[in-house]
Amino acid sequence: MKKVNVNKVCWNITEKCNRNCKHCFRFRNSEELSLEDNMKILNILKENETKSISWTGGEATLYSNIELLINKSHAMGINNNLITNGSTLTPNIFKEKFSNLDSITFSLDFLSDEDNIKFGRGDNYYSHLKEMINYINKDFPNIKVKINTVILRDNKTLLIDIYNAIKSFELSKWKLIKFVSFRGTAYKNKDRYATTTDEFRRRIDEVMKIHDNSFEIETVTTLNLEENHVMIKPNGDLVKTVQGIDNLLFNILKEGE
Ligand code: SF4
Repeated sequence: MKKVNVNKVCWNITEKCNRNCKHCFRFRNSEELSLEDNMKILNILKENETKSISWTGGEATLYSNIELLINKSHAMGINNNLITNGSTLTPNIFKEKFSNLDSITFSLDFLSDEDNIKFGRGDNYYSHLKEMINYINKDFPNIKVKINTVILRDNKTLLIDIYNAIKSFELSKWKLIKFVSFRGTAYKNKDRYATTTDEFRRRIDEVMKIHDNSFEIETVTTLNLEENHVMIKPNGDLVKTVQGIDNLLFNILKEGE
């Protein structure tokens, strides 16, 4: 494969999603590949020393048989993190399909049903997440649980409430992400939802003042999001985003061997 560092990749396995979030920046122009083709990509990644994959989308669990990719990746010794809205998961499904994960990251921007419905996350969003996190904490203590929160104009005053709520879980990390308007719905809504950098920092400072270090807090801005990620689109394109522009490096399936 051409010389690109694929040590850590974010694999957007599908564009499909069952939610309609106002800050969504998923790719919307890429056909997903068959399981067979994605298995080939996984082999190429392994040959090129990939150590860690974040499985995302869209909603990654909507890619049929994604667990076969995760299980194979696990068998290859790669670290696997699933980023999900959790909506397709039940304890039984998790146990059956996802027990080989190293970590799971749930998206959580609001606690109340009203806010989650308004924002496109759907009904019973937080109560379902709570049930899933408590289940994973109890039955799969070796799987790290993380939460991603995007800081928006509408939830910037709710961070302390979210912090106090999620403290009841065994979390390994809470990632606080400055609203990113790279593409899609997020780009269209950027004037409505974006916060300033000063505001973002001020809100983080408020949280840090009461943080008891029972889990890690990581803050993410557009810049470190871009620096830390090489992405694979559903069609196998390897993409690096620089200053909000997606740069196609090459298609792994066609040119990666
Ligand atoms: S942010 Fe995630 S859950 Fe929401 S619409 Fe986009 S892919 Fe789906």
